[in-house]
Amino acid sequence: MSDTSLTPGAAAPKVGFVSLGCPKALTDSELILTQLSAEGYQTSKTFAGADLVIVNTCGFIDDAVRESLDTIGEALAENGKVIVTGCLGAREGEGGGNLVRQMHPSVLAVTGPHATHEVMEAVHTHLPKPHDPFVDLVPPQGIKLTPRHYAYLKISEGCNHRCTFCIIPSMRGDLVSRPIGDVLTEARKLFEAGVKELLVVSQDTSAYGVDVQYRTGFWDGKPVKARLFDLVRTLGELAKGYGAWVRLHYVYPYPHVDDIIPLMAEGLVLPYLDVPLQHSHPDVLKRMKRPASGERNLERIARWREICPEIVVRSTFIAGFPGETEAEFQHLLDFVQEAQIDRAGCFAYSPVEGAAANLLADPVPDALREERRARFMAVAEAVSADRLRRRVGATLQVLVDSAPGLGKKGGVGRSYADAPEIDGLVRLLPPEKISKTLKVGEFTRARVVAAEGHDLLAVPF
Ligand code: SF4
Repeated sequence: MSDTSLTPGAAAPKVGFVSLGCPKALTDSELILTQLSAEGYQTSKTFAGADLVIVNTCGFIDDAVRESLDTIGEALAENGKVIVTGCLGAREGEGGGNLVRQMHPSVLAVTGPHATHEVMEAVHTHLPKPHDPFVDLVPPQGIKLTPRHYAYLKISEGCNHRCTFCIIPSMRGDLVSRPIGDVLTEARKLFEAGVKELLVVSQDTSAYGVDVQYRTGFWDGKPVKARLFDLVRTLGELAKGYGAWVRLHYVYPYPHVDDIIPLMAEGLVLPYLDVPLQHSHPDVLKRMKRPASGERNLERIARWREICPEIVVRSTFIAGFPGETEAEFQHLLDFVQEAQIDRAGCFAYSPVEGAAANLLADPVPDALREERRARFMAVAEAVSADRLRRRVGATLQVLVDSAPGLGKKGGVGRSYADAPEIDGLVRLLPPEKISKTLKVGEFTRARVVAAEGHDLLAVPF
């Protein structure tokens, strides 16, 4: 995480900020930090010396809830003035009250996610706005928590689905797409600020624009529809002008996603699809109430690979969902092998408080869920390792994330196949030519010499 502290002046009030959770929560944090800085507050990542602390929480799984509640407790103990925002802030506790207030009654304010305005109101109440805002100190792209060379771009908030294991719609509400002009303007500011990889995120990226009937917006004097295809094509064309990458996350396999694959083959957007499938068996998908559950995903993925052979498919799955039989689980193992999923993550099913799936019949015992998760990962990792090995000898474009020793000693980067934080890496050996140096945030060509676990080893040239 990059340092977000600003020093506008000795008298500026200081807000400590802790950001927990997924990339969607991270973009909420960035909006709040941007607003704080625009109004002349200092921000820091620690509680020390802060006049007030904001904790942006995650409420998705039980471990995340615990981490969020512990962080709030620490902030209260060390600082005392704490505002809570994010998904956990929207969760009900026992008897219907607010969970955070029940656990930590002394917090100053609690808001749900995507609530910059409410958070700022609470900050104004408890730590009045400085007189002389240092507007000029805010960079045009806003404050980012990611390194300078990549950034998340949130295109919508909320979700129209009601997957039975998920409580996100009750916390974040139904789908609200951002106007396409705003999204593209933000993308351009990010590229102008040096971003070389733009990661498009939302709860349901494929559904972009559904809520506004794909309304036509304007950007750069031209009409553009708020629709995934138009968004991706325009973003890709824009990125090309800056020599940057665009990567798509949380893409449900609705039929119109097929139209995006030729854009990948053309090189407008990275040939990488993060498709959260969660399972393969139609009955389990029905019990999960998954979007696009009727799609024939094996055939779809095969067709995508025909159109764009280098496409990398990442997905996440749940093992041990209530009622999952051994045969249904075996179906999932076969699917991962047949579909040749390049990168797979798997959770053992964990009942989230308030989720409809908790009421389903035949819960799978804890130990069996865990055992299935481990069996799944063994199969998925073998597929993944095999696919990685096929890259040995290939030449890849690598975005350099770190380059110690003035870039002469090698470094670490990622290819189109690796999203930051969740996938593997390309470990760069010292460059072949003595005259070459690696620079963070720049691309290099590299020849793959070996595969190791989730990573590749490559020689830059
Ligand atoms: S699609 Fe399903 S899992 Fe994803 S946010 Fe919506 S309800 Fe939750």
